[in-house]
Amino acid sequence: MSTKYVYYFGGTSSDGRSDMKNLLGGKGANLAEMCNIGLPVPAGFTITTEVCTYFYDNNRQYPETLRAQIVEALKKTEEEMGAKFGDPENPLLVSCRSGARVSMPGMMDTVLNIGLNEQTLKGLIKKTGNERFAWDSYRRFVQMYGDVVLGMKPQTKEDEDPFELLLHKMKKKKGVHLDNELDTDDLKKLVKQFKKAVLERTGKDFPDDPMEQMLEAVGAVFQSWGNDRAVVYRRQYNYPHTWGTAANICSMVFGNMGDDCATGVAFTRDPATGEKVFYGEYLINAQGEDVVAGIRTPNKIAELKIAMPEVYQQLDDIRNKLEKHYRDVQDIEFTVQKGKLWMLQTRNGKRTGFAGVRFAVDMVHEGLISKEEAISAGRIPPDDLNQLLQPIFDPEAKRKAVEEGRLLAVGINAGPGAATGKIKFYADDAEAYVNSFSRDANGKLPEDAQVVLVRQETSPEDIRGMQVATGILTAFGGASSHAALVSRQMGKVCIVGCGELKIDYKKRTVTAGGKTLKEGDWIAIDGFSGEVMEGKVATKPSEVVQVLISKTMKPEESKVYQQFAELMSWADDVRKLKVRTNADQPDQAAAAIAFGAEGIGLCRTEHMFFDHILPMREMILSSNTEQRKAALEKLLEFQRSDFAGIFRAMKGKPVTIRTLDPPLHEFLPTLDQKDKQKEVAKMIGVSPKSIEKRIKELHELNPMLGFRGCRLGNVFPEITEMQARAIIEAACDVAKEGIAVEPEIMIPLVGFLPELKAQVKLVHAIAEKVFAEKGTKVKYLVGTMIELPRACVAAAEIATEAEFFSFGTNDLTQTTLGISRDDYGSFIRHYIENDLVKKDPFQVIDFDGVGALMKLGVEKGRSVKHDLKIGICGEHGGEPDSVKFCHRIGLNYVSCSPFRVPIARLAAAQAVLEEKNKK
Ligand code: PEP
Ligand code: MG
Repeated sequence: MSTKYVYYFGGTSSDGRSDMKNLLGGKGANLAEMCNIGLPVPAGFTITTEVCTYFYDNNRQYPETLRAQIVEALKKTEEEMGAKFGDPENPLLVSCRSGARVSMPGMMDTVLNIGLNEQTLKGLIKKTGNERFAWDSYRRFVQMYGDVVLGMKPQTKEDEDPFELLLHKMKKKKGVHLDNELDTDDLKKLVKQFKKAVLERTGKDFPDDPMEQMLEAVGAVFQSWGNDRAVVYRRQYNYPHTWGTAANICSMVFGNMGDDCATGVAFTRDPATGEKVFYGEYLINAQGEDVVAGIRTPNKIAELKIAMPEVYQQLDDIRNKLEKHYRDVQDIEFTVQKGKLWMLQTRNGKRTGFAGVRFAVDMVHEGLISKEEAISAGRIPPDDLNQLLQPIFDPEAKRKAVEEGRLLAVGINAGPGAATGKIKFYADDAEAYVNSFSRDANGKLPEDAQVVLVRQETSPEDIRGMQVATGILTAFGGASSHAALVSRQMGKVCIVGCGELKIDYKKRTVTAGGKTLKEGDWIAIDGFSGEVMEGKVATKPSEVVQVLISKTMKPEESKVYQQFAELMSWADDVRKLKVRTNADQPDQAAAAIAFGAEGIGLCRTEHMFFDHILPMREMILSSNTEQRKAALEKLLEFQRSDFAGIFRAMKGKPVTIRTLDPPLHEFLPTLDQKDKQKEVAKMIGVSPKSIEKRIKELHELNPMLGFRGCRLGNVFPEITEMQARAIIEAACDVAKEGIAVEPEIMIPLVGFLPELKAQVKLVHAIAEKVFAEKGTKVKYLVGTMIELPRACVAAAEIATEAEFFSFGTNDLTQTTLGISRDDYGSFIRHYIENDLVKKDPFQVIDFDGVGALMKLGVEKGRSVKHDLKIGICGEHGGEPDSVKFCHRIGLNYVSCSPFRVPIARLAAAQAVLEEKNKK
């Protein structure tokens, strides 16, 4: 039997099901499923994703048997709908819609009203008794087909759509503003002009054959899988380009036949806050595109209760049925044609982090889903928790801004959070502007690089600009417009439908509240309330942060916190990985504990030295051991009290302290900082010349591969001795205060066993001395970082001396890939955009390379000590996919920055569930 390429849906039975998304795409699978559960869906059929891959693999050809299968499915569709495709008397019109296995809102193309030509048009007029409507449909069809299938869509922002130009000219000539003010004759003339434009541009007549129209539209939909914005979108979410899209041929139903018609989109619950209310919007007498495109600002769904009470009731019943059936919040599209409700789409609704958490927690309480389902990655991508931890506007600063008359307008609050940034009107300008700045060591951009993208509405072309923007503000559109949907998924602050904004793209100004702001002026938008303010407004921590960190709110005062805490407790019940934090200050440690950290996985001692830079410089610049020891004596005191502070904050949780790691010159003034050189010279009583000489001596061509890590402690053992003493003395002192301590001393950048052995011996000798001096003992471990390929390969040997391993994946990535962690910014974007690497390897572990070495290190290490404790403390330790990888290779813990601790906790739980589901 030949491959089945076409799956029919309609009536109450279909060839497909909701679990066939890989083959039918999300839209196709759900259209089939809605029929299966008895919802009213206009009949049609899905051409599978396999046809799309075939199309790409075979020089844009279709499989041989496709046409016959289409004809067969079309026959069933015609029977169900009681109309015939291409029939001049009773024509069936269809749409061709894309639909990949995951939803990619607005990224691909759609063609509506396929099947229209001068003959079928007559049938449509007869059928509807509405000549204007029929000609308007034909006008829309020629335009859409011309743009999408015949490639007449503008390619750059300067180009104008030839059809829009003609339309504009016609409206001007008639002295009207809106499309619907044109009469039948105008539309007839327009169709003629449109067809002429097609002939001029393509050299061919506009196609009249309905079957040709359909097949060409399918091809155009497949082509749109490969367009730039779809490719960018897939790259952002890591969806393979090989998936392909399905094409859905759906019978047309019309929401624009008159005032007993409507079209709308809705969510079964509020996708911004998570509240259990029917949330959406509709337009009377309009086509679906009109709602989503955001050209007209639609009515709230609650108003449909009054406008069309029976339809509303039916829709509300469907809302409940869908939630029960899919056990998740649904995003639906519907059309009312002459009082009859049709469902055009359902899919799991995209949601903010806030809504995701609330949906999950509420649905567990409603008995709809289990706790394990609630914490699954499909419902809450761990990074979405970021939104619950993000800052909000300081109410005081906001109140002041309002008092000062800086409140410009209020729009629809579509994406929560607080954003302040410079106004940019074009997405590509925003992108170029933000990319002109470089990030600091923590990956942060300077404040000046913050941009708020201000537009009439956004379109999928704007995705890159939206990615770099801190906030997005649009004049048109509702909560389901492109801007709202995409921002929500990106976790961006977003306000839409802010009708008071008057944007002048030419002058690059926006006017509202009696003020005119220029491009580059500061603007602040509150995605919780929809308020738009002139200038900057100070932000303050989120409710979760206020409850947990600043303690300025009580848990019982914050619903968001309560839901967050409940969800996190479910994650903790499931996960096996422990989650620690990277912290070098007691306040950071305390914050991380509040976020659920179970220890410190990396305390970088050098950060403490930056606070005591003068004795540190004295130590480095000393010309003999005696001098160095004297300087170290001063540092000992500081370090001891720093460590004691951390031990106290951690209250018995393990604390991994790393001995000195960075190249020494990092602590010295640079050659051109003459003042600073003089200051040190004076302090240690040497000449400034000798300081300059020492700085030159310490200069390295390649410091990250130079005199750093355990090489320092091996060449200058007194440094390690001082640090070991500070740690053990602090531990003994704090233990004496009755607080449990669990120090773990970690030796960095070890490649050879003897390097580690020497340092371990040294630490033990000092510890014994301190215990004797103090007359007390504490338990401690000495372990090593694994951050060189050699350490992974030689892990069995190294494990003979190490009591624990911790993967330093920042350096391990740098040394495995031979890519400098400090210099890769210049080319990584090119690499990602050209699919030379899947992801930034310094953010997500390079599983096949660095990951394979980690796996080897784990196996070798545990071949010597089967229960060797192994963790990770590179930046990857807080990145969800990397955390999951760490679970799979059997690490004991991950360690990450404090604000990523909740994200790592959730990812660690999801790793367990994903493993279980695989089995
Ligand atoms: C690492 O290399 O992954 C690490 C944690 O150490 P650092 O970033 O301090 O070099
Ligand atoms: Mg390192």
